[in-house]
Amino acid sequence: MADATKDQLLAWIDADKDKLVRFLGDFIRAKSPNPPGNTLEAAAHVTRFLEAERLAYRKVVAEPTMPNIVAAFDAPKPGKHLVLNGHIDVFAVADESKWTHGAWSGAVVDGKIYGRGSADMKAGTTASIWTYAYLHRIKEKLKGKLTLTVVSDEETFGPYGANYLMANHPEVHGDCCLNGEPSSIDTLRFGEKGLLWLRFIIETPGSHGAYPHRSASASKIAAKLIDDLEGLSALSVELPGNVAGALKDARAEMERALGAGASDIVPRVTVNIGLLQAGIKVNMTPSQAVMEVDIRMPVGMTRERVLAEVAKILARHPLVRMEEINHNAPNWSDPGHPMVEIIQANCRALGVPPPKPVVSLGCTDARLWRYRNVPAFVYGPAPAGMGGADEHVPVDVFLHVVRTHVLSAYDYMMR
Ligand SMILES: [Zn+2]
Repeated sequence: MADATKDQLLAWIDADKDKLVRFLGDFIRAKSPNPPGNTLEAAAHVTRFLEAERLAYRKVVAEPTMPNIVAAFDAPKPGKHLVLNGHIDVFAVADESKWTHGAWSGAVVDGKIYGRGSADMKAGTTASIWTYAYLHRIKEKLKGKLTLTVVSDEETFGPYGANYLMANHPEVHGDCCLNGEPSSIDTLRFGEKGLLWLRFIIETPGSHGAYPHRSASASKIAAKLIDDLEGLSALSVELPGNVAGALKDARAEMERALGAGASDIVPRVTVNIGLLQAGIKVNMTPSQAVMEVDIRMPVGMTRERVLAEVAKILARHPLVRMEEINHNAPNWSDPGHPMVEIIQANCRALGVPPPKPVVSLGCTDARLWRYRNVPAFVYGPAPAGMGGADEHVPVDVFLHVVRTHVLSAYDYMMR
């Protein structure tokens, strides 16, 4: 690279390869499944590293078993404030016997690091932590401010984690946020679809199964309601600003990263009937049905517009009541933000095709920065085995993510 400081940073990473892999392995072995979300052991792994590196940090604790770790330094010259964010909790493991290598092993086999949280997102959080440590070493050369936020509780939307931190500690908002959640190295996420979770409760008098003339059936109403709700996917949406162009340009990469068909659903409403319970016995007309529905909203769609459509549907089903369970608005940052160019240029220099900016299907804590108008970008490994068995991250991809975060954080601060 033309910049001697960047060469130095890369040389440090090369010299630390084994240490980085060991750090991630130990991080995976420090189990932090959520639920229950106890991250004490994994947080201790992080603070042990910060202490060994003589890096000051503080804990922000809203729930004693779910600490958040914050560190920050000011560079001597004024400049931008970059915030690095990653979570330490991981999905639970449903069936350990389905894993080829132990779910909490952190085993390195054939160039891949295995274990729950390897991809989502202990590799990315490791990138954030080590980025902070490397840049701290050269802080006298830097401009602006760097903040590290390592949070608990992301898998359950962060009431004690990033949500708490952002609501109560405005010093972690910054000017830009960089996050290493899984994106696949082909794509860089500048936005996320939103979600709206609704519960429908259907109540009828109920009857003997041979007497359908006596009562409407809650299960049959549920079936009609499912069909009507599926119609929400036809809602059209105007994609804002330069989002449409970015998404059109990234169709092939989205399909590769998220599976065939992904590029079609990114700009559309989708409806998942996640839970459906009705009836208690084969020969009874069900008097109650409960349905929980997970609606995902593209950038440009609003909760209000979806709820207005749902109200029209409910007008046709007088025996159905609705409750809202959860809502996260769709969110996005400018795909033309300097951080996008910086990440792309560093990938190119590292011999990796520049990632295309895309909108993700699922939610991350990055949304909390975007909700406060702080641009936030996600660049991390592919979500291999995320939520299922044999979650893993290839060693070379992990090291590439570390290099990209380190160099991009440096470039952003030096602008
Ligand atoms: Zn995650």
